[in-house]
Amino acid sequence: MRRPIIAGNWKMNKTNSEAMSLVKEFVPLVSGVDDVDIVICPPATAIAAVADAVKGTNVAVGAQNVHWEESGAYTGEIAPAMLTELGVTYSIIGHSERRQYFGETDEGVGRRAHAALAHGITPIICVGESLEIREKGTYLDFVAAQVKAALKGFKPDEVKKLVIAYEPIWAIGTGKTATFEQAEEVCAHIRETVKAEAGAEAADAMRIQYGGSVKPATIKGLMEKPNVDGALVGGAALKAKDFSEIVKFKEQ
Ligand code: PGA
Repeated sequence: MRRPIIAGNWKMNKTNSEAMSLVKEFVPLVSGVDDVDIVICPPATAIAAVADAVKGTNVAVGAQNVHWEESGAYTGEIAPAMLTELGVTYSIIGHSERRQYFGETDEGVGRRAHAALAHGITPIICVGESLEIREKGTYLDFVAAQVKAALKGFKPDEVKKLVIAYEPIWAIGTGKTATFEQAEEVCAHIRETVKAEAGAEAADAMRIQYGGSVKPATIKGLMEKPNVDGALVGGAALKAKDFSEIVKFKEQ
């Protein structure tokens, strides 16, 4: 059985003090949950304070990106060791907003993922198609190609530790969640792709999230799908109550 993983992506929201208020409200709401991995990914400026605030709780902290080099002349980037020293154990990598607005490529996504894992940071690798590709009907091939590129160079035992987030771009921040069937179709295809690349054992162990307008009202139906092991949540993760209800989907 794969352990569910629910991660909140705060994107470029919340100053340090706002982040503290949100985390202090959120943590007690999920204190009894011990069968779901809970991750919050604040902006970089709030990581240190949030990591301190969740120490000793069931909530883990993730970054929204991580660079592949150990240090050096990479203005604006953050090295893996800078994150691990703060207690960061996850990082989102290759979010569609990074790919779309900041020119991140499949190759860079792979390098970031390798560096993260080598430092004990679990990569949450994002893949997903645009509306244009969805309408053209080539989305399964498109997503499979992104997955193959991200897995390049990983051994099957490493693949098991990765998390892939399927986030159709047309569903992000639009209020337009993919139907449960659409989410399952692509997540199942991702697992098949992983199986072909890294073997059945790795594919069975690897967790796949759905992301894109996930709300308390849609999480249960998504989690009932056999190949959906969790969610990457944007907007709804900025509200303590909504995000706690998503984390506690089993109680619905
Ligand atoms: P959303 O964002 O839940 O606001 O659609 C999800 C994401 O981009 O990770």
